Amino acid sequence: MAKRFPTTRYAEAMSDYIPYGRQDINQQDIDAIIEVLRSDWITQGPAIERFEQAVAKYCGAKYAVAVSSATSALHIACLAAALGQGDILWTSPNTFVASANCGLYCGANVDFVDIDPNTYNLSVDELEHKLIWAEKQGCLPKVLIPVHFAGQSCEIEQIAALSQRYGFKIIEDASHAIGGSYQGQPIGSCQFSEMAVFSFHPVKIITTGEGGMVLTNQEELYQRLIRLRSHGITRNPDLMQAESHGSWYYQQLELGFNYRMTDIQAALGVSQMQRLDEFVERRWFLANRYNQLLQDLPLMLPWQHPDTESSWHLYVIRLKLNKINKTHRQIFEELRSAGIGVNLHYIPVHIQPYYQKFGFKLGDFPQVEKYYKEAISIPLYYGLNEESQHKVVASLKESLI
Ligand SMILES: *Cc1c(COP(=O)(O)O)cnc(C)c1O
Repeated sequence: MAKRFPTTRYAEAMSDYIPYGRQDINQQDIDAIIEVLRSDWITQGPAIERFEQAVAKYCGAKYAVAVSSATSALHIACLAAALGQGDILWTSPNTFVASANCGLYCGANVDFVDIDPNTYNLSVDELEHKLIWAEKQGCLPKVLIPVHFAGQSCEIEQIAALSQRYGFKIIEDASHAIGGSYQGQPIGSCQFSEMAVFSFHPVKIITTGEGGMVLTNQEELYQRLIRLRSHGITRNPDLMQAESHGSWYYQQLELGFNYRMTDIQAALGVSQMQRLDEFVERRWFLANRYNQLLQDLPLMLPWQHPDTESSWHLYVIRLKLNKINKTHRQIFEELRSAGIGVNLHYIPVHIQPYYQKFGFKLGDFPQVEKYYKEAISIPLYYGLNEESQHKVVASLKESLI
C-alpha cells in the first residue's frame, strides 16, 4: 500500500518549527477517549454531562451547554438572547470573525466598538460614547459581545453598568479565556453577563478537537440553549405544548440545529479540565519569562489591567516602529523564515472584504487599525520548552537590532 503521508520527513520538517500555539495531549487524555470508544455511547452520552458539570463548577456558573464549536455556541447564545432580524449586535473589531458572524446568522446588523490601546479589548470609554450617540440615533444594540482578548478579561463590571443603563444583553466571547479571572472570580461565572462562551479548538487553553460551551446562570436560557443545540426538540413532557402521545414522543418547538458535541470529545474535555490549572500556570511562567527577556527591545509588551488575571492564550508584542529600521511585514517574514510560527491576532473584522458591503471602511476604528500595523503574536503554549523560548527571543533580537 502506498504511503499517503511521508511521516518521517514531515516530522523532521516540523521538528524545528515552533508554532504560535498547540494542544497538549497526554496518556490520561488518550485513555479517556479510548474508554468512551469501548462504551455504549459515542455521541451525546454521560461524558457530555460530566464535562458540562466540570466546567460549570470550575467557573462558578449554574449551567453549561456543550456544543460542536464556539461558533455554534455564539450562534445559539445570540438566538437565546432573542437577537433577530433588524436587531443590532456590537462587538470588538479585534477578534476572530466568528464573534461578528453570529449576529449575521440571526439576521441582525453588526457594528463594532474600537479597542483600548493598552489592553486591546473593547474600550469602555468608546462603548459609552457610542451608546450615547446610538440612543440619540435610535439604534441601540440588543446584544454586546465583549471578547476577552488573549485571555485577559474586559472591564466587565463597567460594561454591565452600561448594559443596565442602555438595556443590552451581554454575551462574553471567552474563547481565549478559560482559566483566567476577573476581580478574583473565574471568567465564565457570568456574574456580570447573561452568557459566556468558550472554545476548545486545539490552539485554545484546553481542547476537545473542535468544541465549545455556553455558560449561564439563568434556567430559561439554559433550557433554550439545550433545545437549540438539537433541532429545537424537547422530550420533557413539562415543556410540551400538547399532551404526550406516548413514550416515543418528542416535540419540535422551534427551529434548532445539530450542534451536538460527541462523548468522545467530551471525555477528552473532562480530562483536559483536570489539567487546566497546570496549563495556565505554565503559560503564566512562560509569559513572565518573555516579559523579562524582551524588556529592553523596542517593543510594547502586553499590559495587564490590575482587576484581571489572564489565561495567557496569546502573547502579543507591538513593534515600536519609530525605533526600528524595518517594516512590520519584514520582521514578521524574517521570524517565519527563522522557523518561528508567529501569527497576527487579528485582522480587524471591519476591513474583511465580506464586511465591506455593510459600509465599513479603513479609518472607522483607528485604534484597532494602528494595532494591526504593529502587533505580532509570538509562540506561547504549554509544551513550549526553555530552548525554544530562547530561540524565539534570539530570533526577535536578531531581527529587531
Ligand atoms: C477561536 C475563536 C472563536 C471560534 O471558535 P471555534 O471553536 O473555532 O468555533 C470565536 N471567537 C474567538 C475570539 C476565538 O478566538
